[in-house]
Parts: sequence; structure tokens; C-alpha cells
Amino acid sequence: MAEAGKKPRQFRAEVRKVLHILTNSLYTNREIFLRELISNASDALDKLRFRVNRGESPKLPDLPLEIRITLDKDAKTLTIADTGLGMTAEELSENLGTIAKSGSEQFLADIAAENAAKAKSGNGRADDSAEGEEAVADAANIIGRFGVGFYSIFMVANKVAVTSRPAFGDDDAAHTWTSDGLGTYTVAQSDEAEPARGTVIKAWLKDDAVEFLEKFRVESAIRKHSAFVPFPVFVDGEQANTQPALWREPKFSITKEQYAAFYKALTYDSADPLDELHFSVDAPVQFNALLFIPDSAQDFFGSDRDFWGLDLYARRVLIQHRNKELIPEYLAFLKGVVDTEDLPLNISRETLQENVVLRKISQVIVKQTLNHLEKLARDDAEKYSAFWRLHGKVFKLGYHDFANRERITALLRFNSSSLADAEALTSLDGYMERAPEGQKTFWFVAAPNREAARLNPHMERFRQKGIEVLYLFEPIDEFVMDGLGRYKEWEF
Ligand code: ADP
Repeated sequence: MAEAGKKPRQFRAEVRKVLHILTNSLYTNREIFLRELISNASDALDKLRFRVNRGESPKLPDLPLEIRITLDKDAKTLTIADTGLGMTAEELSENLGTIAKSGSEQFLADIAAENAAKAKSGNGRADDSAEGEEAVADAANIIGRFGVGFYSIFMVANKVAVTSRPAFGDDDAAHTWTSDGLGTYTVAQSDEAEPARGTVIKAWLKDDAVEFLEKFRVESAIRKHSAFVPFPVFVDGEQANTQPALWREPKFSITKEQYAAFYKALTYDSADPLDELHFSVDAPVQFNALLFIPDSAQDFFGSDRDFWGLDLYARRVLIQHRNKELIPEYLAFLKGVVDTEDLPLNISRETLQENVVLRKISQVIVKQTLNHLEKLARDDAEKYSAFWRLHGKVFKLGYHDFANRERITALLRFNSSSLADAEALTSLDGYMERAPEGQKTFWFVAAPNREAARLNPHMERFRQKGIEVLYLFEPIDEFVMDGLGRYKEWEF
């Protein structure tokens, strides 16, 4: 290794905080560091394939696209190599020295507070040896969402070396990024032959993490968390993942368990989905879609603002993660995959916007989703209520969709003065059925909760006349009602 450039550099402040938390807490679910490294390797391979499809030629074009993990019990190292895009010296320090996602500051503060509380109460300790600040947290909590994936390796390693050789560009040199995860890192040129292209990450495992030197342990973590990674993953030479494109399989051949496993691999959700939609369409565009309704809510008006969209594939090749042209915002709760034959593989991400094929696919998805929700509302009111409670808030934004407004309006649900409790829900059609002869108006009152709504001074008049009043609990509800105008000739 050349000595020039070996001067240690400081991590950015937010990285130091992340590292401090990762190295000083005890974690359940530590194995997901593997998922994070594999997912980064898979992204790097995807990016390479994407550029190759666009006509660029990488170094060593015949090198297979794959991920190889090797375990060395004597040296206590775990190594993960990919033949993907690779990184230059600048990219190494840029990508592995900072955290890109906004909001991580607040998130870290929350985690720290949570850990401190746990440490204090003594609950959730992994064992009695946990001391001081140490507390048990679910690693998945910290990692997945906030783009601190790579750093999760410091839960299990006390030294890490990342050597990378970029697949494109004139510079043929490899560089190594090294850190003990404590506060500084170095980047220096590498004389090693490996990797010929892409990235090799070598982790010196902590004494309490030597379980990850066992082949079966690593394989089982891969089967659990990374089964659907679209490139082969080898552990000591043997392939550990399966990689079927489930969305292309016929519906009848897929079990509930397979759907659930796929969903979990796709979203990193630990719970089964509430429901799935799987369909294939030939006209006006050809595509397969496998979509899920999660069984948990997201905050699309806050921290999850950009955290939506579908994975777009063209002939099984990932074109874009979280594509937002495929669904309107009010279906942001949907997770899943769309695969089409009607897009060229070499399409650039920029031209995906305003793309006619995507627009047509989106229209079909909207129709299919509304069909599905209508059927659910009709046949399984309980599940539909669950859907509404989790995702109603964003789904309401559908009042913007003029073409589908009538159908979306029919799918809205409200609490009201005629219902038994705050949990009960009615549709507008239900309201109309209960209304006395001659009523042609939906009445509603905005209030923070049911109690406040009942105490509203105007309510007395309606109670006397026996007129049901819909309760609007969220600020957005009033916009929705204004936007709707009419429903089946009734006014709001
Ligand atoms: P995220 O993957 O969420 O962006 P990470 O901390 O896991 O966050 O990784 C930071 C960045 O480092 C990635 O976005 C990517 O640009 C780069 N990176 C990580 N691993 C690799 C790899 N194996 N090959 C190429 N680039 C990588």
C-alpha cells in the first residue's frame, strides 16, 4: 500500500454518532449486517449491469456478476466480494465517510434516548454481563431505513478494510478504505490484485461475533434475509440464495408463505403483508405486477415522504428502485415490483419521467388496485377496515384523481354520530342508506376526536332532528370534502 494519503481522516459527526451506537450497544438480529452488505453488493452489480445494457463497456466484461463470501476461521475474517461498479478513492471516502439521508440526526437522538431508557430499566438485556450504557436494541431498527447500512458491519467487526476497483473510467488503480469504526479512517492505494473489478470488504470479527465464521450460520442468514437477491451469492464456493422472479410465476403456483417471504425480502418488514395483488396484463402494455399492502402504517406526510414507489424491472433487470411514476401518490402505501417487456433495457433513468409506457402501466395499476379494494370492502369488511386504519390517510389524497373520483369516494370511511364507538366506520353509501327520506346532504363536523365532535355546539340541532353527522378527525379531511364537491347527486 502506498503511504501517500494514509493520513487518518475524521468521520463526519453524524457517522461518529452512528458508529458509537453500533459499537456500544448489544443487538438482537445482528445477522442483518450481512443483508446490508449483500444489498450494497447487489446494488453495485445492478448499476454495472444497467450501464452495460446502455452500451458502456466495463473492465473485464466477461467477469460473472456475482457475490462471494469467504470465511477464514484462523484469521477470524469474513470477506464479501462483488464484481460490480466499484468505487474510486474519492467515492470511498465520500460514500463511507458520511450519511446521506436527512432526518438521521433526529432518528439517532431517538435511538439514543430509547437505549438509555432500556439500560436504566434493565429490561431487554441480552445477558447479565451487559454493562453501563449497553442495552439491547433490534439492529433492524437502526439500519434499514436510515441508510446507515454499511456501518452495521461494526456491530460484528473491530476492523474493516474495503478495497475497490472501479468498473468504468481510465483509472485502473484499486484503493483501500480502512477503519476500526472508532472515529477515523484512511484511504490508500492498494497493490493487491483483488478485486479485479468491484469491491472486496474484509471484516475482522469481534470475539463475540465468531458465529459468523460458521458456514451454516451465514447461509441461514442469507436464506432468511437475502433469498431474492437477483445475483448469485456464494458462501465458501457454494450458492446460498435462490433468486426466482416470483412475479413472473403463475399465481396459482405460489403459496401464501412464498408471497410473505418475498414481501419480507423486498421490504425488510418483519411482519406478513395485509394483502397482495398479483396480476399480469398484455394490453395496452405488457407487464407483470406483484404488489403488497403492508400491515403497518407509514408516515408519508413526515419522515417517510420519499419512501415510496415500486421497483421497476424491464425483463427481470432492475431499472429503478422506488419508481414514483408507476403509482399516484395516494397509492404510496403499495410496495412491490413491476416488470415490463415494453421498456428497452438501456432506458436512462431521466427519460423514465413522463414516459408513456409507465403512464399506461400506472393507469392499469390504479384500476386493478381500486377493483381489489372494492372487492375487499364488499367481501371482507374487517380487512378493509384494517386497510383503512393503516393507509386511509394517504389514500384519501385520491380525491385529486378526477377520473376515478366516484370510485375513490365510495371507498372512503368515516366515524360518525350514529356509530357505536370511535373504532367503527361507515361509508358514504352506508350514511345515505340510514338517512331519512328527502335528505340530500352529507353533514360533517371537524374535530380532533370523537368526544370533541360530540361536544360541538352545532351537534345539538342535528341530534334533535335525528340527522347523522360524519366526524372528520384529520386536518386533511376538510380539503378532501371540499375537493369532492358531490357524490351521487348529494352535496357535502
Ligand atoms: P446506502 O446503501 O443506503 O446508500 P450504505 O452506508 O450502506 O448506505 O452505503 C453507502 C454508499 O456506499 C452506497 O450508497 C454506495 O454508493 C457505496 N457502496 C457501499 N457498498 C458498495 C459496494 N459493494 N460497491 C459499490 N459501492 C458501494
